[in-house]
Amino acid sequence: MGIRELHRQFVEKRVSVSEVVRGYIDRIRKSRLNAYITVFEEEALECAKRVDDKIACGDKVGILEGIPVAVKDNICVKGYPTTCGSKILERFVPPYDATVVERLKQQGVIMLGKTNMDEFAMGSSNEYSYFGPTLNPIDEERVPGGSSGGSAAAVGAGEALVALGSDTGGSIRLPAAYCGVVGLKPTYGRVSRYGLVAFASSLDQIGPIAGEVEDVAILLQVIAGFDERDSTSLDAEVPNYLEEMQGEVSGWRIGLPKEYWGEGIDDAIKATVRDAVREWEKLGVRVKEISLPHTKYAIPTYYLIATAEASSNLARYDGIRYGLSCDGGTTQEVHVNTRTEGFGDEVKRRIMLGTFALKAGYKEEYYLKATQVRELIRGDFMKAFEEVDLMVTPTAPVLPFKLGERVKDPLAMYIVDVLTVGVNLAGLPAISIPYGEVEGLPVGVQIIGPFLGESKILRLAYALERVTR
Ligand code: GLN
Repeated sequence: MGIRELHRQFVEKRVSVSEVVRGYIDRIRKSRLNAYITVFEEEALECAKRVDDKIACGDKVGILEGIPVAVKDNICVKGYPTTCGSKILERFVPPYDATVVERLKQQGVIMLGKTNMDEFAMGSSNEYSYFGPTLNPIDEERVPGGSSGGSAAAVGAGEALVALGSDTGGSIRLPAAYCGVVGLKPTYGRVSRYGLVAFASSLDQIGPIAGEVEDVAILLQVIAGFDERDSTSLDAEVPNYLEEMQGEVSGWRIGLPKEYWGEGIDDAIKATVRDAVREWEKLGVRVKEISLPHTKYAIPTYYLIATAEASSNLARYDGIRYGLSCDGGTTQEVHVNTRTEGFGDEVKRRIMLGTFALKAGYKEEYYLKATQVRELIRGDFMKAFEEVDLMVTPTAPVLPFKLGERVKDPLAMYIVDVLTVGVNLAGLPAISIPYGEVEGLPVGVQIIGPFLGESKILRLAYALERVTR
């Protein structure tokens, strides 16, 4: 059931908001998935009752009123911990709402709680959370993908109707693919980052995760748009996504970038995504092979830029201003003890890599070089979008892997992002939608759009969903 259907049931008084919210909370409480870090039980039930009272009085309620939403734990919700999956922020309670949260609250959603994630959003499997890994709802021996694994698993398991995630290098799309749900990473600047704990500021973007395309569009409609509190927020008009999503796709040109369909990508995944492309062809879409020649540099470029920005962003966790504070004789010792104790291994690895990349004498060779290569990668996309409307690729190169399988090998973990990081480097929008399965596991199809091309992406995604449901 999607947002629109649940809304109808509320308004027709076939179910009460309180019953539905109670149901979600019971499922979360009984679940073994570990998708949540904090559950807002009391407040969620109170809010539900208020919406029920409104409906009982015959007042009009909006489409999102009473809809249960989960929020990734790096997005601030006033008055509740925002841990970022880290010990260092275990007790940090933000005194304000992120812009996206403020906007959703204004629509009357019910916040169910905060979802589990890789520490500071660094990871692809959710195994780097201080609060323990999240399990994949389809196969509990496997990872849900990361870093928004808690949000995707919650939606996949019916522990939230919809959720928010964040995507720096694939963290919405990969878990969406692994949990069989829909996840959209908007154009950089489309959605305000105010109140999102910064990982790599030039790449981070908040986006929706849901069971169906329409719900992603409904959420995007609310969270998109200019915000003066985020200096990189785009002052561009927000289209009516629900309306623009409905039209024809006949005559559209889809590019299949050959570098995203080559070696190292699971053959069964490629075959499944090719089947999805055939469905679009039946709807009149024209398909052609294209090339994004600098793709091979995307992973190293991403891991230089993301770590450099992270090392700078994470300098603020000094044991004095936020969260954990360990004792020490001198200020220096407070910093060292707090950071030693508070950060996990992967976060420390990133800080060290990033600090190295920015070091005097190395900066030109590493960080600045990476920013130049980033322009080449962006240029590849710009050029290709002169010829095609959208691009289609698999979301992940491998099926959801087993817990523990990659956690000891950072490179094996990093390579899982090979099909998603390019989009972040280029600042473009992309979605992952579920299509078919391999060995009983879900497969994600990625649609990449041009700058501010969310409507087009949603329309193509919706066209496939209509055929397959
Ligand atoms: N897996 C990637 C990383 O570890 C992407 C994470 C993200 O998008 N937040 O950096």
